[in-house]
Amino acid sequence: MAPQSRPPADEVLADALAHLEKLIAFDTTSALSNLALIDWAAGLLAASGARLRYTFDDGKTKANLLATIGPDVAGGVVLSGHTDVVPVEGQAWTSDPFRLARRGVRLFGRGTADMKGFIAACLAIAPLAAASALQRPIHFALSYDEEVGCLGVPRLVDDMKESLPTPAFAIVGEPTMMQLVTAHKGCCVFETRFVGRAAHSSLAHFGVSASVHAAAFVTYLDELLGPGRSPASRIQGLMPAHTTFNVGVFESGTAMNIIPRDARLAWEYRAIPELDTDAFTASLMAHLDEIVLPKMQRVFPEAAINTTKLAHVPVLDPRLNRELLALLTEIGGFDGETAVAFGTEAGFFQAAGVPAIVCGPGSIEVAHRADEYVDCDQIGQATVFLRKIVDWAAT
Ligand SMILES: [Zn+2]
Repeated sequence: MAPQSRPPADEVLADALAHLEKLIAFDTTSALSNLALIDWAAGLLAASGARLRYTFDDGKTKANLLATIGPDVAGGVVLSGHTDVVPVEGQAWTSDPFRLARRGVRLFGRGTADMKGFIAACLAIAPLAAASALQRPIHFALSYDEEVGCLGVPRLVDDMKESLPTPAFAIVGEPTMMQLVTAHKGCCVFETRFVGRAAHSSLAHFGVSASVHAAAFVTYLDELLGPGRSPASRIQGLMPAHTTFNVGVFESGTAMNIIPRDARLAWEYRAIPELDTDAFTASLMAHLDEIVLPKMQRVFPEAAINTTKLAHVPVLDPRLNRELLALLTEIGGFDGETAVAFGTEAGFFQAAGVPAIVCGPGSIEVAHRADEYVDCDQIGQATVFLRKIVDWAAT
């Protein structure tokens, strides 16, 4: 198509706002299906000539969509967003969270900032991409279950690696107020179950207290990763600058006078980019197997400790996106870079060999809260930036 058929900027912004209204109306809380949203977005993208690829969760109630406009060659750009949102239960909303409400320059609704605003802007540039003589493809990557541990995007990234020529880079549109975010921590989430031997509390020599041994492991984590204890990152802007941990759930015991047989910990650590998480996780598992478990088994040979890894969000390592930072700074006229405290899907793309950066409309400070909003101007900035990305892909 000829360049003059490209939609003008105000039309792209109007489309983005209309798409946002539609996106907010899909209740895609992570516990629910996202298929209605995905089908609707797929229809829009297909109308712009996109080639569609789906990957599903095991129950086929949720899908990732990977849609490509442009030539089937390497060197394209991935525009990535998660379609799920966090629950609204227990939050005091001024208006229906699943109905976009405009008050002044602000647009309220669940997911306006995190991160349907970015998805709306991406969908709005699809007709522009279709009308441009793209030399490099634009891939639209919409995932499920990001908010419950980035469970969906690994399947999308695996499919991308198998099926598409390697993209040049990915932009993950989590809310950063349209700042370029080049670094964040990784997160490894576990559940560990300790099985000892129950006994009357007077028979301390006979029982094996699961709670005592679980507590010893918590103390070990605290010695390694308590506030300020682990080595500080040299990367600017990570707050706090150290690898941290949390034991969010510690369940054990049934009565004051019974030595508890079982204990369950739900725990995580958040790693700085310099930490080798595979090696560190292995060292923690070795501590459980070689230090904690033998103490339990000395009294009760059948004692057991079992750990399940529930989620792993890879770090976004700024040392791996220097060229991309330079390119996007030039394309988008950005000023500097920053780091964020939260994890994103960007680390999955980076781990797959696709340099990634986080940049999207709205603020993380209003995300996950009642009366979440995005300013119209932020959506405007996102569409302007994405237009420039389309122009880059057409050169
Ligand atoms: Zn998000």
